[in-house]
Amino acid sequence: MLTKEQVNHYLRHIIIPQIGEKGQKKLLDSSALIYCENTESLRIAAYYLSASGTGKIYCYLENKEGHERLFDEITDLNKDTEVSLYEESNAASNEASYRIVTGSMIFVKQITSQLSKNKFIPTIISISSSWKGSLQTFTNSENLKEFIQSLNKVNYENSLESPNFFANDFSAILSVIEGIKIVLNLGVQKNKLFYNLLSMEFTETANIFEKLIDNSFDAPDPLPKLSQEKILIVGAGGLGSPAAYALTKAGIKTLGLLDLDFVEMSNLNRQVLHSFSRIGIAKVESAKYLLKKIKPEINIKTHQVELTESNAAEIISQYSLVIAAVDNIESRYLINDSCFKLNIPVCEAGILDFHGTATTIIPKEGHCYRCLYPKINTAALSNLPQGVLGPIPGIMGYIEAAEAVKVLTKVGNTLKNKIILFDSLDMDFNIIQVKNYPQCPTCGKL
Ligand SMILES: [Zn+2]
Repeated sequence: MLTKEQVNHYLRHIIIPQIGEKGQKKLLDSSALIYCENTESLRIAAYYLSASGTGKIYCYLENKEGHERLFDEITDLNKDTEVSLYEESNAASNEASYRIVTGSMIFVKQITSQLSKNKFIPTIISISSSWKGSLQTFTNSENLKEFIQSLNKVNYENSLESPNFFANDFSAILSVIEGIKIVLNLGVQKNKLFYNLLSMEFTETANIFEKLIDNSFDAPDPLPKLSQEKILIVGAGGLGSPAAYALTKAGIKTLGLLDLDFVEMSNLNRQVLHSFSRIGIAKVESAKYLLKKIKPEINIKTHQVELTESNAAEIISQYSLVIAAVDNIESRYLINDSCFKLNIPVCEAGILDFHGTATTIIPKEGHCYRCLYPKINTAALSNLPQGVLGPIPGIMGYIEAAEAVKVLTKVGNTLKNKIILFDSLDMDFNIIQVKNYPQCPTCGKL
């Protein structure tokens, strides 16, 4: 069914029982139609659609400027993907496996008002405003019609703030996950989702529009305050790619990237900063190449080493915050313990198949990683690769980046003393409270 090269390429999908080779073939045969305001609001969704092996991507762009360069990046990320601009006369694009409409309320209103003349296909709609966003999936035309009618009655869209790129991109990645679930027959979200990445509210609500306009959580935009900050990302892979991309767009002054590895084919189903043409290149250099193309003025320091007990303090102390974007528990312990000693905050995340977790560690203020997992017999852990759906690290990496922004600027609510659990099959985010563990080997006081 798939070539040997494709099996290697999509291995992290294929080893998930709900996907397998058959599911990957379905993805390769699928097509997505995505509506965005401009190239920048499309970029991250296009990366994840392509990385996951979506066969065809049709893009409706209100402003098409810069799309050629993005399309080149997408086909370099995955040679199995064809990407083109949407044309109304192209019958195939109107019969895509699903469509995604994502952007401000004004944009979504304008697009959805024209949809009824086309044949119904499953439709994922996300509206974002400032740091807030919503997600709804429609699998029948009646529900979609009802939604469009209620959207048309909304008359306060002009008072909504324009989407922050964090919220826009977060919604776009969630939409890609819903699209993949449609293709794989894994069900879709049952309830509407509303979120606010500044207040860290994730909720199911009947009235999405009211939540989007509700400004009771009032906080200044933290992004303008970022221009002097230095962040180290340990790991330039699945989690490191979206975290580095988001922080680059956010306007961070200096980004440190630490990773010893080289780009491999099997990384490309999820590690969206890399590409086919950069296979064999150090991941930190491959990531730097793309990030510099996106924002030439960013200062990127590369550390092509393994983080060890002997170099951790020297490297970490050059930065004001660390993003742990690693895939093993030893590195998590090392980052946790080193940062605790240096009094440097850590944003931490983990991923597995359709799930993700994240937490924020602020030394001497909240819990640490060892409070959650005091010690684990690492010899008993399996070293086999674990399955992960391509866009899952995208969501968790964006949460880590948003957390880093909030910790450094002291704006909004963070995941200090909290863990977020993401289940993409139910499209559910659950935040649970955690406490310091008095006998914690790192931060315990007993
Ligand atoms: Zn602790």
